[in-house]
This record gives sequence, C-alpha cells and structure tokens, in this order.
Amino acid sequence: MRGKMTAITHHIPDALLAAYAAGSLPQPYALVVASHISLCLDCRATFDAHQAAGGAVLDTAERAHLSNGVKARVLEQLDAPVAPEPVFQRSGVFPGPVMEVLKGKPPRWRTVGGGVRQSILSATGEGSVRLLFIPPGQAVPDHSHNGLELTLVLQGSFSDETGRFGVGDMEVADEHLEHTPVADVGAPCICLAATDAPLRFRTLVPRLLQPLFRI
Ligand SMILES: [Zn+2]
Repeated sequence: MRGKMTAITHHIPDALLAAYAAGSLPQPYALVVASHISLCLDCRATFDAHQAAGGAVLDTAERAHLSNGVKARVLEQLDAPVAPEPVFQRSGVFPGPVMEVLKGKPPRWRTVGGGVRQSILSATGEGSVRLLFIPPGQAVPDHSHNGLELTLVLQGSFSDETGRFGVGDMEVADEHLEHTPVADVGAPCICLAATDAPLRFRTLVPRLLQPLFRI
C-alpha cells in the first residue's frame, strides 16, 4: 500500500506525525508536515488514525501492531479516497497549506547565489520555513544544521548520500546527518524547507528522533 497511489517513497516519520496530530509541532515544521499530508494519501490515513486516537501517544510496539489495520480502516472510511482532487489540493507546484501562507500569490524569490533562490515564508523564534529554488546540478544551500531539518520536494528532485527525493518526498535530517543534497538533472528543484531557530529545540529534537533512530 505504501507509495502505491503516489510515487512518494519518503514519508513522515510516525513520531513527527504524532506530534503534529497532537498540535505540538512548531509552526515551521507543521507547515511542511501539513503540505506532505496534502500530497500523500498514506500519511493522511495515518494522521487521521492519530486524530481518531485523540492524539494519544502510543508506545512503539502498540503503534506497529495497530498501524496496518487502522490505516486500512481509515482508508476505507475516507469519503473520496480514490479521486485525487480533494487530496491533491495544490496550485501549480504549491500544496494547499503553502498557498494559504502565500495568500494565493506567487512567492517573492530572492537570489542567494549560484542561481539558487529562496522565499522565506516565516522566520520566528520557533524557526524558519522557506521555499528554495535550486537549478539542476546545484547543491542545496547549507541551512544551519542546528537541529531538526525537514525538506519537502515540490518540483524536480534532489539526491544526497541517503537517496533520491522526488516530488512529495520528505527528508528528515538533523545535525548528525552529514549530507550534501544536489538538485538532479531536469526541472529546477523547488523545495519547502523548515529549520530550527539556532539552539532552540535541543531538547525537543532528541525526543522526536528517539523512536525513529532508536538512539
Ligand atoms: Zn507520506
């Protein structure tokens, strides 16, 4: 089932999805997660299951046991699980949640060198979230690596040491991941990227990543 309805292969880790469902994700991350959910039936089903559970925190064993059955039932219950229109809400390359932030207007791009452009959607004490435009063959600019970094591909693709990321794929990285994402040949890569405010979420990040990487 995973990845069958779309070409998405890199999904939202369950710990992040649970934090989002519980309303405890900082806004920059929440925007990336919401955008992925708007593009991905699979994560939408998991998200709905979390919401149905009242955002209750299940332990890993319980979650693993439940996930397949719950997801199947939730998918059955979706009003229009097959029709792409209500799920794939987007305008051009921008998912619905991004369009809301843009208020329906095109992003204001600013050149940051090497043909790379960015459009900062928000930058607060909770971190920042921006759109990045990366020409084919160019490296994704290094953005701080002070903590958790979420990158969602909206157009084109990029590759790094961990794999290839196409439209709808989300990469989760932290300061322990040494990686150099480079936009693939073809269409320019457009990404939505959220990063921490420096030093801000030192305590949150290990807690979120613990179930993922079993630190
Ligand atoms: Zn997904």
